[in-house]
Amino acid sequence: MNKPVIAYIGLGSNLSHPLTQLKLALKALAELPNSQLLKTSAIYQTPAIGGLIQPDYLNAAVKLQTTLSAVALLRQLQLIEQQQGRIRGEKWGPRTLDLDLLLYGEQSIFTQELMVPHPGIMTRNFVIFPLVDLEPGLTLPSGESLLALKAQCSSLSIKTIA
Ligand code: ATP
Ligand code: CA
Ligand code: CA
Repeated sequence: MNKPVIAYIGLGSNLSHPLTQLKLALKALAELPNSQLLKTSAIYQTPAIGGLIQPDYLNAAVKLQTTLSAVALLRQLQLIEQQQGRIRGEKWGPRTLDLDLLLYGEQSIFTQELMVPHPGIMTRNFVIFPLVDLEPGLTLPSGESLLALKAQCSSLSIKTIA
């Protein structure tokens, strides 16, 4: 049995009733094997990134304790995305559900399949704001503090909806 690790997962949706998608995903995350859902952030609305014209996103994040390996956790997240009808189209295109593994304990992982911390953590307000809800005192494996990242990112385009 692996040692329990604290992991943070980012959720995003901008298709097929995003709020319902996020709520379904939260339920699925609460039922992940070998894992315990510890905390859920507020839900945020932000414009989509990447230049395609598409609906706004709803985003959130959760804190999990898990004994799954990072790759096993990623595969579970992909399974939930598929169960909620995710069709892999254009990078950053619209989707029913996107689940990103943001942090996995203190680990840094650099493979083609899995990059942890997720590269988006450093700059994306829709990742940083929900993480601050979960753990304001969090420090990334690089030593960077979450609050320092929050101070650098824009709060103009992000609003809490729930
Ligand atoms: P971004 O990763 O910039 O947020 P995206 O979420 O739209 O973009 P996807 O199409 O969902 O990207 O995922 C592309 C690939 O990213 C997946 O096949 C997965 O193997 C890989 N990946 C690498 N690191 C991670 C991670 N930390 N969490 C989720 N997927 C990851
Ligand atoms: Ca993503
Ligand atoms: Ca993703």
